[in-house]
Amino acid sequence: MGRHSNRLGAGDKQQHTLAGEVCFEGVTLHKGFPGQLLIKPALPNHGIVFKRTDLKASENLVIAKWDNVSNTALCTTVSNESGISVSTIEHLMAAFAGCGVDNALVEINCPEVPIMDGSARPFVDMFEKVGRYQQNASRKYIKILKPIKILENDACIELSPAKNFNIDFEIDFDSEAIKDTSLNISLVNGAFNHEISSARTFGFLEDVDRMRLAGLGLGGSLKNVVVVDGSKVLNDDGLRFKDEFVRHKILDCVGDLYLCGGPIIGSVKAYKTGHYFNNKLLRKLFSEKSSWKWASQEADHMFFEDQLKMAIA
Ligand SMILES: [Zn+2]
Repeated sequence: MGRHSNRLGAGDKQQHTLAGEVCFEGVTLHKGFPGQLLIKPALPNHGIVFKRTDLKASENLVIAKWDNVSNTALCTTVSNESGISVSTIEHLMAAFAGCGVDNALVEINCPEVPIMDGSARPFVDMFEKVGRYQQNASRKYIKILKPIKILENDACIELSPAKNFNIDFEIDFDSEAIKDTSLNISLVNGAFNHEISSARTFGFLEDVDRMRLAGLGLGGSLKNVVVVDGSKVLNDDGLRFKDEFVRHKILDCVGDLYLCGGPIIGSVKAYKTGHYFNNKLLRKLFSEKSSWKWASQEADHMFFEDQLKMAIA
C-alpha cells in the first residue's frame, strides 16, 4: 500500500518512487548525443537502475551503485559486468537524492545522460511536478560511525559522524572569476532543491580545445556550461549565484554520494575534490565495516527515546 506524497526531501521513514513517468530530451555534454530519458516508477528496494534501450535486453541494465563506477574523469560513469555504461549520471543522481526518490528505472537511448541546462534543476522541477509515491518499505539510511578520509596531494575529502547530511566544500582555482570559494550547507528541509540544484557545471575556455581534441565536451555550449575566460564569465546572463562554482561542486558531491545506496547521515568536508575522490571515499567507507551502519529514522528515534527513559529513571 502506498499513498501520494508531494513533500520532498530528507527525513523520510518510508521509501518513495515517482508518482508517474517523466521524460527528458537534450544533447549530452561529452559525446554530443541526442539523448532521451524516460524515468519510470519502480518497486521498493529496486534502487536507481539505468536501462539502455538502444541495446538488447540481456545486458542493458546498469545499477547506479558506487561499486559499478568505472570512470570518474570529467563525469561519473557506471558500468555493468558486460561493460555497458552510462555516463554523466551525477546531476540526475543529485536530483533523485534531493527529491528523496529511492526507486526508479531510467530508460536511456544512449550511453550518456542529457546535460539539460548544466544543473539538476530541470530534473528537480519535473520530479516535484509529478510528485512522489510513498512505498511500503522503510527507508535505509547510511549512518556514519567513524571518520573516513581520502587525502591525495593537497586535495582532501572526509566523511564524519553527524546528526544530518551536511557538506562543507572549498574550491581553489587559479581564476579571478572565482571569488567565493567555500560554502558549508546542511542539506535538510529541501535545502538541496532551493540552494544547490540550479548551480551549473563550469569550465575554462583554455580547456575547451584540449577537451574537443580528446572527443569530449562535444555537446557543451553556453546554454549548458558556465564558461570562464580569465577574470570573465562568458555567459550573457552571468552567474545564478555569486558562488555558483562551489555550489555546483556540492551538487556533484550529493549526486556521487547517492551511489552509496541511500541517504547519508553524516558530514562531508571537502577541499579541491571531485568525482574521483567522491567514489574513492565510498569505496573506503564500505571497505571498513565498523565505520557505518544501516539505520532507519524510526530506529534512531526509538534509540533516543530509550536513552531519555534511562536518563529519567
Ligand atoms: Zn557536475
